Amino acid sequence: MNMIKDRINKIGIPRAISYYNNYPFYFGFFKKLGVDIVLSDKTTSDIINKGSHYVVSDTCLPVKVFVGHVINLLEKGCDTIFVPSIQSTGYKINNCSKVRGLPEIIRNVIDKPFKMIEPTLDKTENIGLRDFCFDTASQLNINDISLVEDAMKEGWRVYDNFIMMAKSGLSYEKALHNAINDKFEIKQIELVKPLSVVIMAHGYNLFDERISLYLIKKLEKMNVKVYTSLNVSVEDARNSINALGEVQYWANELDLTGTAAYYLLNKKVDGIIAMSAFGCGPDSLMAEEIAFHAKKDGMPMLHLNIDEHTGEAGFVTRLEAFIDMLSRKKRKLGGKRNIVKPVEYKSKETEKEAIFTK
Ligand code: SF4
Repeated sequence: MNMIKDRINKIGIPRAISYYNNYPFYFGFFKKLGVDIVLSDKTTSDIINKGSHYVVSDTCLPVKVFVGHVINLLEKGCDTIFVPSIQSTGYKINNCSKVRGLPEIIRNVIDKPFKMIEPTLDKTENIGLRDFCFDTASQLNINDISLVEDAMKEGWRVYDNFIMMAKSGLSYEKALHNAINDKFEIKQIELVKPLSVVIMAHGYNLFDERISLYLIKKLEKMNVKVYTSLNVSVEDARNSINALGEVQYWANELDLTGTAAYYLLNKKVDGIIAMSAFGCGPDSLMAEEIAFHAKKDGMPMLHLNIDEHTGEAGFVTRLEAFIDMLSRKKRKLGGKRNIVKPVEYKSKETEKEAIFTK
């Protein structure tokens, strides 16, 4: 006799890795399915220390942070946790082995009883977003096809609103807060600042303020306009990678190479800041690529490497020295470069194709 299993009505989402690009979609999707979300707390030193304790020391910081967030959810009493395995986000556009194997890492390092919801996205193998969503629902014992389809639509709606607000110039935090509270607001006025930079970094490093040591806020305090991957359309990021004569291989390459290349090619900023995790192979390759092209073009670039021991003092000193150098260079050039128009949100279809790709 077939037993009908009870549906699971609560899921914990670690505030790490794919959360930073995909949470608006996850939020709309689970809400429509009728599944309550428990989010882990914002990253703290305690979360980082707990995560670091479970994995070997040369694991990259974002994975240590992810493990720390899973522990945080378990401490909150959450016994069902979302740990997707995002293998590839386009044909042969791959994530690194740690992101691909996240469920395996968690299973092997955390010896506590809990249920993992671990859907796979692997476009190289034709396992697309629809499969990913149905797999997620099925692991929650939800098998109502039209409900899952409606949940996907709601995910896109929330995600679209988020991306439109972010592209208009709203901060990541503000755009996310508005999107999940069903508010819509477009930033109308863009103040021209004396200097501007683009940051090339994974969303999970840059928008996690503890990991990035508040990099965006620090630059804004120095009166520097900051551009990130949220200001570049997927199409522009892809075209810019190609225009440099490079080929996209890594899933996060749009956030890193594509974003930096767009501003580099269009001479739209005064400098580039690459922020990458210590020990990350893909990050160091992408930073090297951009450093090569930036040098040819005379565009100053600063490379910040971060790990759990990165101290605030040295970080700020390097940042201040870089901004100071940009200022002097600009004065010498007579204030040219750096007229930036807000980026338009071009086509929802293009962005939809790109979700889970950055
Ligand atoms: S891409 Fe780099 S930083 Fe990100 S999870 Fe993989 S190894 Fe770590």
